[in-house]
This record gives sequence, structure tokens and C-alpha cells, in this order.
Amino acid sequence: MHEFGVAAGVLDAVEARAAGRPVAAVRLHVGALQRLDRAVFDQAFALVADGGVAGGAEVDVVEVGVEVRCRGCGGVSTGTELITSCTHCGEHDLELLAGDDLVLESITLDGIACATVGNEQEVG
Ligand SMILES: [Zn+2]
Repeated sequence: MHEFGVAAGVLDAVEARAAGRPVAAVRLHVGALQRLDRAVFDQAFALVADGGVAGGAEVDVVEVGVEVRCRGCGGVSTGTELITSCTHCGEHDLELLAGDDLVLESITLDGIACATVGNEQEVG
């Protein structure tokens, strides 16, 4: 299942950053095109993280909308689903700017204030 693969990838990134320290919370940016099922993902993450440094960690998912730029008119179109034609001129030659991201934004270490660490990291 997609969510399990994502959860495993996220866990790898989280564990790499935590370096053995207990993790209280995890924050992700997930593009709408990932079509991540939150309920399934939460379950999957809890399962793969169980017994490790991120076991029981709170997962915060920030959803990112879809954004494309038209190669015809240069206009930007946004939405919550895949955009196949420019909303300005109807052109189909579009460049995806945002929406398929899967980024570990931050982790919060247990018992350490302001312990958001590292830079954004692609996990997808
Ligand atoms: Zn256009």
C-alpha cells in the first residue's frame, strides 16, 4: 500500500535526524497529488515506528495544493487535484510547481524545547 511505503520512507528520514534521541512530533508537507490517506498513513506510521525512537510520535501533515505554470501564457493555476490545462488560456503544456511534494519539514525531540532540526528533506 502507498501509505506504508511513504511511512517507511518518512521513518527513515526521521530516524536519521533523531540520531537515537526520542521523537515527540513529526511534521510533513504532503502535496495533494500524493493522495495520502491520513487515517491509513497514521496507522502505517504508528506500525512501522513502533518500538523505535519515533514510536508514539505525533504526526502533523500539512497539505500542499497543486500549482502549475503554463508554458504558453506563463499564468499560474492552482487547485486541489491534477491540473491538465491552463485555467487562463487552455494550454496543456504545463510545468508542475507544487503538489507532488513529500517533505519532512521538521521533527521535535522529546523533552527538548525548540528542537526542530535540519533542513527540509525530500522523502518521496
Ligand atoms: Zn496559459
